[in-house]
Amino acid sequence: MNDEISKLIDLQKLDSEIDGFDKAIHAREQEISDREQSISDKDAEIEKCRERSARLEQLQKDLKFELEEAQAGIKERQNKMMRVQTSREHQALLKEIEENKRLIKSHEERLLQIMEQQEQLEKDVAELENLCAGEKELLDEEAREVKKAVTKINTRKKTVLKKRKALAPELQSNIMKRYDMLREKRNGTAVVQAINGVCQGCFMTIPPQQANEIRKGDQLSFCPTCQRILYYQPEKESVDV
Ligand SMILES: [Zn+2]
Repeated sequence: MNDEISKLIDLQKLDSEIDGFDKAIHAREQEISDREQSISDKDAEIEKCRERSARLEQLQKDLKFELEEAQAGIKERQNKMMRVQTSREHQALLKEIEENKRLIKSHEERLLQIMEQQEQLEKDVAELENLCAGEKELLDEEAREVKKAVTKINTRKKTVLKKRKALAPELQSNIMKRYDMLREKRNGTAVVQAINGVCQGCFMTIPPQQANEIRKGDQLSFCPTCQRILYYQPEKESVDV
C-alpha cells in the first residue's frame, strides 16, 4: 500500500480516538451540568414558593385587619341601635350589620383557604429542600468521580496526541489540508474503507475502474460522492495500529 495512504489511515485512527476522548469528556461533564441545572431549577422553585407564601401572609394580615374592623363595626352599630328613634334608621343599621357579617364570613372562608395553601406550600418547600439536599450530596460525589475519570481520559488523550504530533509532519501539506477540510465537513471522518466497491463513508457505489485502483492502493483515491479518501483493507490482513 502507498505509504501516504497508510499514514492517512493511521492519522484517521488517532484523530477518531482523540474525538472519542473529547466526546467522553464532554458526556461526563454534561452529567455534572445536568445535575447542577436540576438543583438550580429546584432552588428557583423553592424561591417561588417562598415568594408566594410571603404574598399570602400579607394578604392574611390585610384580611384579618378588615375582619377586625368589620367586627368592631358591628359592635358600634349594635350600640347605636339602642339609641336610634326611627325604624328607618334601625333598618339602615341592620343592613350595615348584615353587610359586615357577610364580609366577615367571606373573609373567614378566604383565611381558611389561605391557611391550607400555606400548609401545602410549606410541604412543597420541605420536599424540594429534601430533594435538593440529596442532589447536592450526589453532585459532590459525581463531581469527584467525573474529575477522576476526566483526568484518566486526558492522560490517554495526551499519549495519542503525542503520536499524532509525530505523524502529522510526515504527510504532505496539501494532503493534510484536504484531510483537515474533509474532517471538518464530514463529521470527523476523512479516510474510510471501500468494501465491495462501496464507500463506507457515504455508502455509495464507486465506479468499478476506481474500485480496482483503490484495491491496488498505488495512489490516493477520493470518493466521487462524498470526496472522502478511500482505501482497501484486505480481509485477512491484521489492522495496523
Ligand atoms: Zn463516499
